[in-house]
Amino acid sequence: MISLALTPEQEEMRRVAHEFARREIRPVAAEYDRKEEMAWPVLQKANAAGLLSFGLPEQYGGGGVPGGLVGVTNFIVMEELGWGCPAIATAIGSSVYAAGPILAFGTPGQQEKYIPQFCDQDTVRLGAVCITEPQGGSDVSAMRTTFRRDGDEYVLSGTKCFISNGGIADLHIVFAVERPGAGWSGMAGFIVEKGTPGLEMGKVEQKLGVRSSHTAEVVLSDCRIPAENRLGGANPTVVPGATSDDGARPNPLLLLQYSRMIYAATSIGLARAAYEYALDYASERQSAGRPIADHQAVAAKLADMAMAIDAARLMLWRAGWMVDEGLPLDRGEGSMAKCFAADTAVDVTREAVQILGGHGYMRDHPVERWYRDAKVYQIWEGTNEIQRTIISRALVDQHVRRSR
Ligand SMILES: Cc1cc2nc3c(=O)[nH]c(=O)nc-3n(C[C@H](O)[C@H](O)[C@H](O)COP(=O)(O)OP(=O)(O)OC[C@H]3O[C@@H](n4cnc5c(N)ncnc54)[C@H](O)[C@@H]3O)c2cc1C
Repeated sequence: MISLALTPEQEEMRRVAHEFARREIRPVAAEYDRKEEMAWPVLQKANAAGLLSFGLPEQYGGGGVPGGLVGVTNFIVMEELGWGCPAIATAIGSSVYAAGPILAFGTPGQQEKYIPQFCDQDTVRLGAVCITEPQGGSDVSAMRTTFRRDGDEYVLSGTKCFISNGGIADLHIVFAVERPGAGWSGMAGFIVEKGTPGLEMGKVEQKLGVRSSHTAEVVLSDCRIPAENRLGGANPTVVPGATSDDGARPNPLLLLQYSRMIYAATSIGLARAAYEYALDYASERQSAGRPIADHQAVAAKLADMAMAIDAARLMLWRAGWMVDEGLPLDRGEGSMAKCFAADTAVDVTREAVQILGGHGYMRDHPVERWYRDAKVYQIWEGTNEIQRTIISRALVDQHVRRSR
C-alpha cells in the first residue's frame, strides 16, 4: 500500500520548521542577502531548536528521524526552511553536510568522534565537503588535489573551489587522488579539522544568489593530517563502490546521489514561496477592472507553477520513500528529483517575477531575490546536464540488463 499521509511526527516537524522559517528566517533574509553575510544568529537559534541535527542518528545525540539525512522527514523540514530562505536553509543544511561522508564511509571510531560534534545544540558546528576544483567540477574523476602517506600522516595538496563553508567550517571533508589522473581507483576522502596548518581559505566568492551562504576557495598546501583521519581508516581495504562496512574506497558520486535530494527539497520550498507570493499578488492586483489572476494568461501561469511544484515534490518523496524502503535508486530517481525540482524553481521564480510585473523586478518584493537564488540549483550538487546524463545512463543500463 502506498500512502502520502504524513505521520504525526512528520506533521509536527513540518509545523516546527515552518514556524521557524516564518518567524526567524523570513524577516531577516533580505538583510543578510544585501550584506552577503551568514545569518549566524539564525543558525544559532536553528541549532538550539534541533533543526541542524534532527537528521543525525540518535545514538550520537541527533534527532534520529526515520530515513536520517535523506528520508522523507528530512525533505519535509528542508522544504519549509527553503520556503523561508534558500540561502539560510543552505547554511543550516550544510552545517551537517560533512556528516554525510562520515556516516557513509567513516569507521565507527570516526563516527563516534565527529558526529556528536554536529549534534551539540549549544554550539553551531559547520561542515564543508570539498570536491570541486578550478579546472572542472563535473568531471570529478579528473580531480588533481593529491594525497600521499608520510609515516603516521597523510599530506594533502591542491585547490578546491566554490566550497560552501570553505575555510570557515569546523570540519572539511576533502576528496583527493594519489596522483593527478589516478581517477576513481586512486581517490580517497579525508577529515581535516579546523586550524590544521596548511588548510587556508582562498578567494571568497561574490555570487548572483544564495548570498548569505558562504562560498570560498580552499587551498591545501602540504596539509598534514593524522593517518586515522582518512575516511574508512588509516589503511582502508580497496573495494570500489563499497561502504565503510566493507572497507571503503569513498566515491563522492555515491554520496551526491543522496545529498542532492536535500537540495531538491530546499528548491521546492523556494518555488513554493514564489508561487504563494505571486498567487497573493495576482488575487489583489487589478487590471481592466478585475484581479490579474482572472486573466487567462496569468491564471495559466499559476496553474503551471502549482503543477510543477506538486510534481517535483512527488518525485522527491518517491526517491525518499525508496531510500526509506532500502530500494536502490537504479533509474536515477534522486537525480530526477534534483533536476526537476531545480528546473521548477527557476521556472516558477521567473514566472513569479513576471506576474508582479515591474514590481517583481524591484527589491521591494522577495521574488527578485528568489529568482536570483533559484539559478544555483541547476548548477550545484552536479549540474542539471550531468543529472540528465546520470538518468539516461541508468535507464539505458536497466534496459540493456532487462533485454538480456
Ligand atoms: C554557490 C555554489 C556552492 C557550491 N558548493 C560546493 C561545495 O560545497 N562543494 C563542492 O565540492 N562544490 C561546490 N560547488 C561546485 C558545484 O558543484 C560545481 O560548480 C558544479 O559541479 C559544476 O562544476 P563547474 O562549475 O566546474 O562546471 P563545469 O564542470 O566546468 O561545467 C560547465 C558546463 O559544462 C557542462 N558539462 C560539463 N561536463 C559535461 C558533460 N560531461 N556532459 C554534459 N555537460 C557537461 C556543465 O553542465 C556546465 O553547464 C558549488 C557551486 C556553487 C555555484
